[in-house]
Amino acid sequence: MLLKGIVTPAKEVSYILVVEILMAVCIKSQIQNMNLVIGCTIGCSYCYARNNVRRFHMIEDFENPEFFPGKLRLMDKARPQIFLLTGMSDFSGWKPEWREQVFAKMEQNPQHQYLFLTKRPEEIQFSSRLDNAWFGVTVTSRKEKHRIADLRQHIHGGHYHVTFEPMFDDIGAVDLSGIEWIVIGTETGHRKGKSVSRPEWVQSLTAQAHALGIPVFMKEDLLPILGEAQMIQELPPAFQKILEEQRKWQK
Ligand code: SF4
Repeated sequence: MLLKGIVTPAKEVSYILVVEILMAVCIKSQIQNMNLVIGCTIGCSYCYARNNVRRFHMIEDFENPEFFPGKLRLMDKARPQIFLLTGMSDFSGWKPEWREQVFAKMEQNPQHQYLFLTKRPEEIQFSSRLDNAWFGVTVTSRKEKHRIADLRQHIHGGHYHVTFEPMFDDIGAVDLSGIEWIVIGTETGHRKGKSVSRPEWVQSLTAQAHALGIPVFMKEDLLPILGEAQMIQELPPAFQKILEEQRKWQK
């Protein structure tokens, strides 16, 4: 895979390091899952985590989330990483005492960046003073746009991001103020009735984000829908810095 970093000359996105793509980068090569909590009560029909948990008998009941504090030691690694901590859960389902332990450990390990996602920000009252915590909501359709305002209202501190995945319809005009990264993706897997995102939906969100200088990451599954020339995979400067540091470790 051949990647080339350039700084875009476009005024409105001038601070973003853009990756020139010769093929799509898989987001999992840049962001690692750390499944400290497994299980979720939200019940999305397209949930891959639920299928994996049942298939590999990871926990007894997916609808009854469990905390695995033993995995916190993964944060002790000196090599910086970008971690997604909610790959098999929703942040709204984390008990306060779990959050307390996790954020205490994050504070001891500022070398990493930490991402959280929720579909129910209205159920959370939380604030953090950590600058490397990224709180985000998933928005899959126009009627879920309110989650972005709910995120800003209910979670304070750190940084905000939004994942538009899987996109089931045209999200339309969206208020992205205060958001520092968006991720866009289509539905994957083989679900009956699977939805395929349309190029114009992706382009509309991208244009709105770029107008505010917000980096956009299109997930690799959009490649056959958009074509290579239209793919954009930008990262916030803090994540780019982590990847640069990782490259130094490999030398
Ligand atoms: S919120 Fe995430 S983990 Fe929970 S059911 Fe939906 S896709 Fe699965």
